[in-house]
Amino acid sequence: MSDTAFTARCYCGAVTLTLSAPAQTVAYCHCRDCRRWTGGPVAAFAAFDRTALTATPPLPAPASHSAGVERWNCTACGSPLAAQFDYLPTQVYVPLGILDQIDAAAPQLHCHAESAPRWLHIADDLPRQTGSARDTLSDAAE
Ligand SMILES: [Zn+2]
Ligand SMILES: [Zn+2]
Repeated sequence: MSDTAFTARCYCGAVTLTLSAPAQTVAYCHCRDCRRWTGGPVAAFAAFDRTALTATPPLPAPASHSAGVERWNCTACGSPLAAQFDYLPTQVYVPLGILDQIDAAAPQLHCHAESAPRWLHIADDLPRQTGSARDTLSDAAE
């Protein structure tokens, strides 16, 4: 990935994020969980080492509505800010839509490709994995 340092902010601007290390992976996620959380027909995330993330002000308590995943939202405007998965404990996932440098975060793969809406056609040649692609994602964390 590029060595861009990323910044991000929520819809209302109450929360800003700074990512001090390059993204480890950038992926679309077509799972129903991410779709519902973001409100879009497909979610996309950049994965960073957990220690690279600084939130101003510090992140509120996470919410967990599905086993194995914690998600943070802005308490003022509700914007999705970050997610963490139990099986990838060293990583934090930031939605591409809140990044200030979205052009520098091109997705590298599709996760849960089998769950994409039937009418959604993204014309790329990226790998399409069924399920969480956890092996690919955790390899990138090493
Ligand atoms: Zn906000
Ligand atoms: Zn997902």
